[in-house]
Amino acid sequence: MFGSMMDRPLLVSSLLEHAERQFGSTEIVSRETSGALHRYTFLEAAKRSRQLACALAQLGVTHGGRVASLAWNNHRHLEAYFGVSGSGAVLHTCNPRLHPEQLAYILNHAEDEVLLFDTTFLPLVESIAAHCPMIRQYVLLGGGQDMPKDSRIPNLVCYENLLAACAGDFVWPEFDERTASTLCYTSGTTGNPKGVLYSHRSTILHTFAVSLPDTLSLSAHDCLLPVVPMFHVNAWGLPYAAAMNGCKLVLPGPKLDGASLYELIEGERVTCSAGVPTIWLGLTQHMEQHDLSLSTMNRTVVGGAAMPEALIRTWTQKFGVEVRHAWGMTETSPVGTQGSLLPKHANLTVEQQCAQRAKQGRAVFGVEMRTIDADGNEQPRDGKAIGELVVRGPWIAAAYFKGEKPALRDGWFPTGDIATIDADGYMHITDRVKDVIKSGGEWISSIDLENAAVGHPAVLMAAVIGLRHPKWDERPVMFIVTKPGQTVDKAEILAYLADKVAKWWLPDEVIFLDALPLGATGKVQKMELRHQYADMLDCPA
Ligand code: ADP
Repeated sequence: MFGSMMDRPLLVSSLLEHAERQFGSTEIVSRETSGALHRYTFLEAAKRSRQLACALAQLGVTHGGRVASLAWNNHRHLEAYFGVSGSGAVLHTCNPRLHPEQLAYILNHAEDEVLLFDTTFLPLVESIAAHCPMIRQYVLLGGGQDMPKDSRIPNLVCYENLLAACAGDFVWPEFDERTASTLCYTSGTTGNPKGVLYSHRSTILHTFAVSLPDTLSLSAHDCLLPVVPMFHVNAWGLPYAAAMNGCKLVLPGPKLDGASLYELIEGERVTCSAGVPTIWLGLTQHMEQHDLSLSTMNRTVVGGAAMPEALIRTWTQKFGVEVRHAWGMTETSPVGTQGSLLPKHANLTVEQQCAQRAKQGRAVFGVEMRTIDADGNEQPRDGKAIGELVVRGPWIAAAYFKGEKPALRDGWFPTGDIATIDADGYMHITDRVKDVIKSGGEWISSIDLENAAVGHPAVLMAAVIGLRHPKWDERPVMFIVTKPGQTVDKAEILAYLADKVAKWWLPDEVIFLDALPLGATGKVQKMELRHQYADMLDCPA
């Protein structure tokens, strides 16, 4: 027997309608490409999103048609989030940091019909337009004054003109909640990028989960700053969550350096923010150099890569900001875990609490999580047994766009992360499968080594890779970027690590670099380091 409740579809447009009615005067502030701040309200955002939906219909975009975006976190991109998906089309957010060839590949693979792009990306679009025959219409996200005098791009129109030609009386259509809403490709560090196709239903359920007290704890009293790009897994769902909860939304545009972020956080009275660890590293440096403090920000969600414990301590103790470590992937919408503490942790010292926060956290309701061995057997939840992390839930990908299937293990998505889970459900990632270091038959955690090294006062960033070794199979090699003006040598690093990790974990080599190679989403490209230094230890024993 079924329940007798209404079967109303969960649609992205309903978030904006809700915001318009309950939080119409709530502000959305966004940094323009020019650097100026643009301000308006949810009321205006809702009207312009409807105008966009109407304009897309006039351009011939139909239900399920794909509209791509190449844009920063700004108000026009926000309108695309709601206007494109709300109309029943699919917003394909593209990462502008992808190699142009890869970008052309995903635009073609997605069969995008329209490309919306910020002025910054004009040269990039000009360079790939000839390779993207399916794009019928290019739309520059700006006004008439932003249009190039003569451009090689065919069918180029300006966004503001498109909108001006449409009234704001578009009525959001209703359709099946399982309809695709957005498309985001994995960064494709190995092989071609793969498309993850989110649905309206998965997006709304994920938005509820992101808003929960132990996740972001969002309300109309919050001012939310998503530093995580809107082209990367829907900015972790924060633009939707801002609409659901009526948060003031601050969008940082292209300026992600420490000084610009600090100015925005203080100037707009941001309470909650989210981004990858490298972003917080930049802000930390800026604040430490200028002896600054934060007056309103009280929590930040960090994920995408492990947040080193030393950085968590700085933010907790020095800046008074609660760090919520989260784990996720493009295939998981992305939020899978969050690292808030439990009542039992209240009596721990601050240092112990920070160590707890350095774990990737507990599954958010809706996500089931376990670790398995090579034969697929579930590993004990004892905080010690390591295995591959597998997950399942209503916002986890069951397939990639155009049918390519991930190799599900008994219905669970294999994440490619190696982790432990403890009795309280705290998951701790030790490595990605492809980064694991196997030395003499035992595993060394590159992430634990990196986190330990970053605790040294002279170390800004660290990366550890396993390199082929004639005797031990593989041995760890550490790469270090020091803080400006600081020096340290191999002996001092090894001495510093000596009481923090097992002796046989100590890296065979410590190499100092000016910078680590970073990928399209700001993560260290270990593959590049492995490639460059492959033979380093491969000498006769
Ligand atoms: P890509 O594989 O292209 O980098 P994602 O951006 O989806 O794509 O990255 C997902 C991966 O990022 C996870 O599988 C995991 O290895 C890593 N990751 C995400 N969050 C964390 C975290 N909090 N700590 C450590 N690693 C993380």
